Amino acid sequence: MQQALHRSSLVPAGFVVESAFCNADSIVITVRPLQNIGVCPSCGTVSRRVHSHYRRRVRDLPLSGRAVEIVIIARRFRCDAVLCGRQIFTERFPKGALAPSARRTSRLDGIVHHLGLALGGRPAAIFAKRLMLPVSNDTLLRVVRRRSPPPSDRLKVVGIDDWAWRRNHRYASIVCNLERRRIVTLLPDREAATAQAWFAAHPTIEIIARDRGGGYGEAAAKALPHAVQVADRWHLMENASRAFLDAVRKSMRQVRNVIGSTRIEPALLTADERIQYEGYLRREETNAAILELSKSGMAIKQIVRQTGYSRKLVRQVVRGERNDIFRTRQSSLDGHLPWLDEQWASGCCNGAQL
Ligand SMILES: [Zn+2]
Repeated sequence: MQQALHRSSLVPAGFVVESAFCNADSIVITVRPLQNIGVCPSCGTVSRRVHSHYRRRVRDLPLSGRAVEIVIIARRFRCDAVLCGRQIFTERFPKGALAPSARRTSRLDGIVHHLGLALGGRPAAIFAKRLMLPVSNDTLLRVVRRRSPPPSDRLKVVGIDDWAWRRNHRYASIVCNLERRRIVTLLPDREAATAQAWFAAHPTIEIIARDRGGGYGEAAAKALPHAVQVADRWHLMENASRAFLDAVRKSMRQVRNVIGSTRIEPALLTADERIQYEGYLRREETNAAILELSKSGMAIKQIVRQTGYSRKLVRQVVRGERNDIFRTRQSSLDGHLPWLDEQWASGCCNGAQL
């Protein structure tokens, strides 16, 4: 039996067409929802109290070779439930028609999904453009990823570490699936007991990457004694770099000696550097005096008595452990200083120009 085609049958179910306009390559259809109630997404209470209206624009299937944009005159409702934390909510539509916050109707999203599955990102995007469904390759991949079922394979390799809600105040733990590079869960604190309980509930875990502290290790050993524990790469690098810096810091004097000193111009030093330089000169003077006494055959004990310096200091100087050099902080300007000096001397005193 033939039936007259009603224009509201062109848009997804649940909407009635208010108006439709045709441009050169697109059609804009303004619709209004059929239902006159809203259901609060937080508490499920039905509301009839409309707070305000707004326009929501979504893409739909193409029509007669033209891309279709649907403008929905949507509503915000008030939630009257006493204990609901939400006072105002935007109306939701049937899941088969339009998902919350979606930019495409569900039926268009289905086509985009199938295109993405069949052709992949870029080829599907080019094909979609010819079908008057303008979507980017990123969107196609996103739709495929969103609609693919969550991985159900069992958890085997996890990493656990702490993270800060607020540094130095409150910490929690994060567990990641290292095979899928995804966060598995966030634990509310970094207590060993919490981690142990979580590990115990996931007996399929075989490898646990963790920091080098004892807490998580103990929890894992108690809950999953069969699992292999490994130090994760970040903590290994962190520990190695800390050990390296410690070693360098301890040998700084020798390192500076090898690098050698640059010529010091006292007139060019900053106020801070000048104070340090004066201290350096005093130390050098002391060293020279003690060394001279030592060379003349005087014993350490006697030098201490004569000069009044500590035994430790005299011993250091005699053993050559207190020789240092003075270095200023290198600045990016240093290379240009001779040239600048020359310009200044020849009369160019314009700072901006220099
Ligand atoms: Zn509510």
